[in-house]
Amino acid sequence: MDYDVIVVGTGHAGCEAALAAARLGCRTLALTLNLERTAHMPCNCSIGGPAKGHLVREIDALGGQMGINTDLTLTHIRFVGTGKGPAVRTLRAHADKSLYPAWMLATLRQQPNLTLMEGKVEDLLVRDETCYGVSVFLKLGASSGAVSETLTEITARAVVLTTGTFLNGLCHIGEKKVQAARFGDPPAVGLTEALRQRGFRIGRFKTGTTPRVDKKSVDLSRLTEVPSEPCPPFSYLHDRLEPPHPLLPCWQTFTNERTHAIIRENLHRSAMYGGHIVGIGPRYCPSIEDKIVRFPDKPHHPVFLEQEYWDRDDLYVQGMSTSLPEEVQLAFLRTLPGLEEVVMLRPGYAVEYDMVYPDQLYPTLMTKRVRGLFLAGQINGTSGYEEAAAQGLIAGINAALYAQGREPLVLERSHSYIGVLIDDLVTKGVEDPYRMLTGRAEHRLHLRHDNADERLTPIGRDIGLVDDERWRRFQARQAQIEAELRRLDSLEISGKHNPQLVALGGTPVNTRLTAREYLRRPEVTYAMLTQLFPPETPVPPEIAEVVEIRVKYEIYLRKQQQQIEQMRKMEDWLIPEDIDYEALTAISRESREKLARVRPRTIGQAARIPGVRPADIACLMIYLWRGRSSP
Ligand SMILES: Cc1cc2nc3c(=O)[nH]c(=O)nc-3n(C[C@H](O)[C@H](O)[C@H](O)COP(=O)(O)OP(=O)(O)OC[C@H]3O[C@@H](n4cnc5c(N)ncnc54)[C@H](O)[C@@H]3O)c2cc1C
Repeated sequence: MDYDVIVVGTGHAGCEAALAAARLGCRTLALTLNLERTAHMPCNCSIGGPAKGHLVREIDALGGQMGINTDLTLTHIRFVGTGKGPAVRTLRAHADKSLYPAWMLATLRQQPNLTLMEGKVEDLLVRDETCYGVSVFLKLGASSGAVSETLTEITARAVVLTTGTFLNGLCHIGEKKVQAARFGDPPAVGLTEALRQRGFRIGRFKTGTTPRVDKKSVDLSRLTEVPSEPCPPFSYLHDRLEPPHPLLPCWQTFTNERTHAIIRENLHRSAMYGGHIVGIGPRYCPSIEDKIVRFPDKPHHPVFLEQEYWDRDDLYVQGMSTSLPEEVQLAFLRTLPGLEEVVMLRPGYAVEYDMVYPDQLYPTLMTKRVRGLFLAGQINGTSGYEEAAAQGLIAGINAALYAQGREPLVLERSHSYIGVLIDDLVTKGVEDPYRMLTGRAEHRLHLRHDNADERLTPIGRDIGLVDDERWRRFQARQAQIEAELRRLDSLEISGKHNPQLVALGGTPVNTRLTAREYLRRPEVTYAMLTQLFPPETPVPPEIAEVVEIRVKYEIYLRKQQQQIEQMRKMEDWLIPEDIDYEALTAISRESREKLARVRPRTIGQAARIPGVRPADIACLMIYLWRGRSSP
């Protein structure tokens, strides 16, 4: 074999997949149409936000790259979801759109075991339903940019496809269509056919982006400035953020009735509403046209102007993704307060592209039809850099473990948002572009932003992706947390402290309590307690945050842990791979069809398949029990 692992694509999924496979010791090749467009951010400049910030922390905790890269290239950062408690609270940052890709490409270039090549993958090499490489038109020379006329076959034990919005990409601005994966990138034609010929079910999805405007043409004094906040880094490898310049704000304004009127009057000219687009768009990332149609009574929609680069005035108009004609876009932009004289640098547009329905994958992200072939990112029907990166990491890890003949890694829903993401994809499938939301996680108090390392770094260490430095930092952090909890256990509060407690805003005690017990009171904060009982060495804010959450939510966390243990019994109940669902006539036809299509790994996964009834799961459990394949 020429390589152990081939990764097709150096987008957000491809980068994580290639780095993971190389860091696990595999001879890895990353192939892409254009290396200079590695980790390109075609849409917003933001990394993180509700649930997406959790994914970035989890990628970092497992030994991935996105968190590190964001810390080194961010221009703006804030906590979001703060009013909704520790389960939802997370970071949202804006990255510099030239520095983020540049750092990621530099990281790929410096990675041992990793070879980078430019070329267009045309087909897969498959024998006996096993993938053993790709056939590719290699780019002959970066300077010439010419591609070789001949298809080159490159072999590997495993192949990871992360082709994003490239498969038969078609961009739309009003009635105008351009064959492209996105602004500035040609589509990839041919690979969809290769997948279809091997029996894969292919879908067509759509996503869109917003216009970009020139900051110099916006009267920012008429907008609400949203400043950056002092925040901890995304990565557990960093003690603090050290941005090269003072962090930037972003700016908020709102649409109004004049904006809505222009959009309503021109709805028929929008690519989406004009019927020019076949692809299915995202429910949770609607275009401005969708918002006007779906929420007709809403007088205003929030719009944020986000600076895309440190040293350029390009502003991303967040909240106004559109595929209306350019002149209509300029007209509705000029109705926004502060943008009356705005100069549009680039119009918004929509792109439709081919995707592969993810219920054709195992939770390892390997395809069921072709062994050794893994899919990750937008190709699986998700939308978002973070969702793509999370899948890329897991697919890269499993491609490496497969190539090394090792046990695969499957993250459970109780472990992580990554586990929720992948389980939703492969068990429930997708009908429109899937975006991660905190509401998708049943154990979200357990899956917090602050404890991603506790949940995942030991797993990353077991498989060999977490290196010594990260492990040392993890152990030191856990030791600090445990030490502070022990200290609070050892401190006693009694009536004699009441004057100070009340002075600090606390409530008096009438029995002896430990400081930990006292901290459970809603009005008491860790900060208050440290004024009364200052630790010998100040505890870093990130440690204090974990300590406070663990103490204040102790009872809920224990309850959630019990639920997780309950569910784990179902998750550990494996279903034989060769089970013949057709033979189980006690189960309804609809459920048998769905079970046969998804071929769940466990009873737990079977129970989550949409449309499979609890009674059918009970039948299946009895059948397995009688067959003695039970937990
Ligand atoms: C116009 C637009 C608007 C978007 N809007 C949003 C949004 O509003 N919200 C959101 O969350 N996300 C949005 N996204 C999606 C976001 O950009 C993607 O989720 C993310 O980039 C997907 O990452 P990926 O790694 O799967 O694919 P990509 O980043 O698209 O990377 C694909 C990679 O595959 C390579 N490739 C493809 N085909 C081949 C081939 N045959 N041979 C060799 N290499 C190949 C390409 O060169 C590239 O390196 C938008 C994307 C676009 C294009």
